[in-house]
Amino acid sequence: MIISKQLRKPQLVLIVDDQEINRDVLGMILEDDYEILYASNGREALELIREYSDRLSVVLLDLIMPEMDGFEVLSRVRADEFLRRIPMIVLTAERSAELKALQMGAADFITKPFDMHEVILARVSRIIELSEGRQLISAAEHDPLTNLYTRNFFFEYANRIHRYHSVWRMDAVVLNIEQFHSVNALNGREFGDNALRVLGEEIKVFLAGTKGIASRFDADRFDIYCAPQPDYRALLDRFQERMNDLSRNASIRLRMGVAPWREGLEPMQLFDRASAACNMVRGDYKTRLMVYDEDMLEREMLNQRLLNDLRRAVEERELRVFYQPKYNVQCDPPKLTSAEALIRWQHPELGMVSPGAFIPLFEGNGQISVVDNFVWSEAARQIARWKEQFGVTVPVSVNLSRVDVFDPALEETLTGLVAENGLERSSLKLEVTESAYTENAGKMIERISRLRELGFMIEMDDFGSGYSSLNMLSAMPIDVLKMDMRFIKNIERDERDFWLVEVVLDIARHLKVPVVAEGVETGEQVEKLRRAGCELIQGYYFSRPLPPEEFEKLIIKEKEIERGE
Ligand code: C2E
Ligand code: CA
Ligand code: CA
Repeated sequence: MIISKQLRKPQLVLIVDDQEINRDVLGMILEDDYEILYASNGREALELIREYSDRLSVVLLDLIMPEMDGFEVLSRVRADEFLRRIPMIVLTAERSAELKALQMGAADFITKPFDMHEVILARVSRIIELSEGRQLISAAEHDPLTNLYTRNFFFEYANRIHRYHSVWRMDAVVLNIEQFHSVNALNGREFGDNALRVLGEEIKVFLAGTKGIASRFDADRFDIYCAPQPDYRALLDRFQERMNDLSRNASIRLRMGVAPWREGLEPMQLFDRASAACNMVRGDYKTRLMVYDEDMLEREMLNQRLLNDLRRAVEERELRVFYQPKYNVQCDPPKLTSAEALIRWQHPELGMVSPGAFIPLFEGNGQISVVDNFVWSEAARQIARWKEQFGVTVPVSVNLSRVDVFDPALEETLTGLVAENGLERSSLKLEVTESAYTENAGKMIERISRLRELGFMIEMDDFGSGYSSLNMLSAMPIDVLKMDMRFIKNIERDERDFWLVEVVLDIARHLKVPVVAEGVETGEQVEKLRRAGCELIQGYYFSRPLPPEEFEKLIIKEKEIERGE
């Protein structure tokens, strides 16, 4: 009996009474079995309850006290979502007060003068058991797998620390497993569960003896609210090593985002930042750790602004479509064959914003379809205008985002646009980035095939940047391969890079589709590509993306060449 009690960490009991003699008596009765805190009035009691809220098993509360009486303490604790789980036993000499206290939510009462010791001990231990049992049933505090806190409880707790212990200056840390669903898919759910458990265990070891707390939610997200660490890299390495120990084959990679404490920020806001930082690491195999800093704050504010301004941009025509020509370099002289439509945003205050800054943003929140629909309809109108003006059709490629491809209205939108403008479907080409294919290949292939059956030409954009296998490639419905720009960068200097270009050209020959090399900036690059058999070239060497009125000059020049002028 005694041994089992000593093995456990003693439960913590708070005794609140304004009379020292009462505190002493109760303390004596309970001290062999419990760890004890004392308060001599309601105000002190509330402070201690808040400070030890995570550990307090029960409060013994005198009702009649100066300053703040027991009723007031009781009602404040009961009104508090977080504290109300702590059972309160009232100490009283009046029957009428007992009833009132019970109605207010007291768990039990002990009458003064005090009963036999055994009776008091039994009441205290019964109430603790009851309340712990109840918590087990509701189980809302802990995640059953890792025994860390649940998200709601965690934030409740973190807010409390923030409010009552602002001097602690806690940091927010978000820890995530890279591609957790593939870890599960490749190694089985049991392995995945075990990894989560081990990580949770290591987090607990890290937090032991500190004021820090942790939670798990959304399967593989771990939030840690802890004292600022001198070296987060070392902390991440420590967690990573535990994961490496699990299995040599199944590599589990962690990423971490940190938001350092900041005056005035609520835990929720701090964790939003940590999570944003963590997401920036996504897919980056070298960094894996990101600490939120002022640059990120600025970027976040800029992003927010762009997200807010999009609707106005469409209405006020701040968005424009530029066109970059593609030349066939197997002809002599190279021949203008088509163009790519690229969005530009002339922001009234920020100036020209590059699509690299806002496209990923809108892809993230779904608004990309607003931008894309605008570009498609502009491009279709432009093709028709040029046809009317110059008597030639300049096919234009537009970019499709992943979200667009899965939009059920896509086919109708596109066929509608070409019909309205009296165009052949083949003159509106669709660029889809390779990485979009790799995520949900089956469904993607189905959707793209449908568009192709309807007569649209499909160009696979940024080819070589994703992870399509040769197997997948042969199943993919494509008409053109656009080689990723990175292949071109060093081909003049680096033989190995040029060898990669040749591999891509070989693949395209097998698939019987032409290749567009983009990002071509020098004559030397053009020459190398031309000799290797690359047909189409897009890049600054020929032209930057141009507004339509500039692009027209290229069409006119082309016509002059044709006429032999
Ligand atoms: P992307 O589709 O790979 O487009 C090619 C990018 O390379 C364009 O950047 C183009 O201006 C740039 N570029 C062309 N030639 C050269 C060159 O010789 N050297 C270098 N360094 N760069 C060159 P841009 O216009 O900034 O677009 C960036 C990305 O934004 C595009 O990459 C595309 O993914 C996306 N994007 C642009 N417009 C749209 C759009 O209307 N819808 C969607 N969904 N995405 C778009
Ligand atoms: Ca493109
Ligand atoms: Ca590209």
